[in-house]
Amino acid sequence: MEHRIQEQPDRTVVELIGDIDGGIAQALAAIRTAAKSRTIVFDCSRITRINSVGIAQWMGAMKQYTGTSYRYAFCNEQFIDAAVMIPQFPCEGWIESVTVDYHCEPCGSVERVVYPCDGDAETLAAQAEEPRTCAKCGGAAEPMSDIGVGFETLGERACFRPRR
Ligand SMILES: [Zn+2]
Repeated sequence: MEHRIQEQPDRTVVELIGDIDGGIAQALAAIRTAAKSRTIVFDCSRITRINSVGIAQWMGAMKQYTGTSYRYAFCNEQFIDAAVMIPQFPCEGWIESVTVDYHCEPCGSVERVVYPCDGDAETLAAQAEEPRTCAKCGGAAEPMSDIGVGFETLGERACFRPRR
């Protein structure tokens, strides 16, 4: 796992690149020490794989993030899958945006679309499940996974708004 920290006026943005596995506890401890803001946003668009050891370490490491509010942005399919499977995984963090990949059969292009999670989860799910007009050829691009179903589950668990 590599990570890149970017300080913004009101938040520390941490891009996570690679696998969430046995090395994540160490990375999260380093991030916590380095972050200047008390609001940390994890950019989850470049997570490649999440395994059970990684999830267990994540949940343990987050107990040290006291006095810090954290969120997840640009959550990809790997992240959403893990969050659906393990309800405790996102911990106290909330999901502020998700990504959906669409594949256009006629021209073979893949487009990644970012959806903010500020509305209701059912609308988000319906939006994510519908085909989109391909930007390249005008054909019908289909979502590459059933990620929309996951959005409904996470919405029911109140993952899309700040938690108490
Ligand atoms: Zn196309």
